[in-house]
Amino acid sequence: MSFASLPWTPYYQQEGSADANDSASSSSLMAQYALAGTILFTAIVYAWESYLDTRQHAAYKINQFPSLLETTVSKIDNKEKKLLPQMKEKFSKAQLYGRDKMQLGRIASPYDVTESIAFLLLGFLPYMWDRAAAIGNQYFGYTAEDEIKITLIFLGLVTLIGTITKLPFELYSTFQVERKHGFNKQTLSLFFTDQIKSLVLTALIGGPFVALLLTIIQKGGEYFYLYVWAFVCVFSLFMMTIVPVVIMPLFNKYEPLPDGDLKDQIYALAKRLNYPLTKLFVMDGSKRSSHSNAFMFGFGNNKRIVLFDTLLTQVEQDEILAILGHELGHWKLGHTVSNLVITQLYVGAAFFVFSQTYGNTELYQAFGFHGKVPTIIALLLFFQTLWAPVDKVLSFLLTLFSRHNEFGADKFGADLGMASQLQTGLIKIHLENLGAMTPDPWYSTYHYSHPPLVERLSALTNLVKKST
Ligand SMILES: [Zn+2]
Repeated sequence: MSFASLPWTPYYQQEGSADANDSASSSSLMAQYALAGTILFTAIVYAWESYLDTRQHAAYKINQFPSLLETTVSKIDNKEKKLLPQMKEKFSKAQLYGRDKMQLGRIASPYDVTESIAFLLLGFLPYMWDRAAAIGNQYFGYTAEDEIKITLIFLGLVTLIGTITKLPFELYSTFQVERKHGFNKQTLSLFFTDQIKSLVLTALIGGPFVALLLTIIQKGGEYFYLYVWAFVCVFSLFMMTIVPVVIMPLFNKYEPLPDGDLKDQIYALAKRLNYPLTKLFVMDGSKRSSHSNAFMFGFGNNKRIVLFDTLLTQVEQDEILAILGHELGHWKLGHTVSNLVITQLYVGAAFFVFSQTYGNTELYQAFGFHGKVPTIIALLLFFQTLWAPVDKVLSFLLTLFSRHNEFGADKFGADLGMASQLQTGLIKIHLENLGAMTPDPWYSTYHYSHPPLVERLSALTNLVKKST
């Protein structure tokens, strides 16, 4: 049996398949069906996610205000706040916004899945690797010995192609869908400046990261996954430190929150919870979008809180405090730390399993690689094939965990005595963002990192009932 008679092989093959004949004749089942299996898995995930999209799209077509939301909000609302009338007024707008976003996804996802499958069948990875090696050889005199340098050229090419193929969808999303619904505030020049800045940062940070990672894998010996794990842990901590301080200011302006009542109250809240707040910023989120947010960051005794300028105009002061009460709840309840630990365990597990498959050259032959496979290719194929199903399951578990934590942080806010302010704050933000009012239960269970609004509101109402 020659290599070409493997049941599934990509169109482009690296040279040297003749040498691979012998090993191919004893190909394991896994190697024989690795390509077909990967395509099948991609197609199954696509079919499943499209089905969920169809369900959510149908939910966005409902034109009657959901009764559960109505009864839940009416318990929170009063004549002064007029939240229910506002929700009803914005209901059809929110439904339309949801449909428009889904419509874009309905074009983007078939395109994505077709691209992925076509790339697998055509042998995009071996082809790009050979091109990168040829460019490296022609312009810099690199040989097969210079694998890491060729890897950087390869990743540069692949990233550039990825950025360009995604561009039409991002442009359409920002300047068509978001603008139509009044969210987009950015100009084309800001959009492209952001893209270029991101590419430069990816090269500056991603390049050295990949180079070090590959060196550790190649030189680490039998237990390389342990060193990789330690390296990735240190690198994540490094990124958590520099992202807010060095990288985010490249995209947005951070100004201290002006002196006044709000600032005093936030510091008082932080003090009450022993949160070592050292700086309080307002970020000019409005320069890109009118969507709003708040977040916290920092290590040890040097923590900061950032409020989007859009948030300040969309909700009242006591609601901002309630939202921060929720955010600080995530910190106080250890969610920030547990997320970091889970991520590191995930990385450790992934690299351990990778270390067990790293030497399996048959697997790489199934994707068109012959001879010594470059480490980056081994990594990419591992995450795209064997690890992909594991990743899908783990991501779903993490989504469940995240929703669980949201209820926990809401309860924390309620225990601070801010349940009703949190409720009205959540409703207002939901309205401003035209959030989904008719989330399909299957769709939201699979995709939402936060529980649907109505669930959060009723959980808070129940908490208030219990405590009184
Ligand atoms: Zn939260």
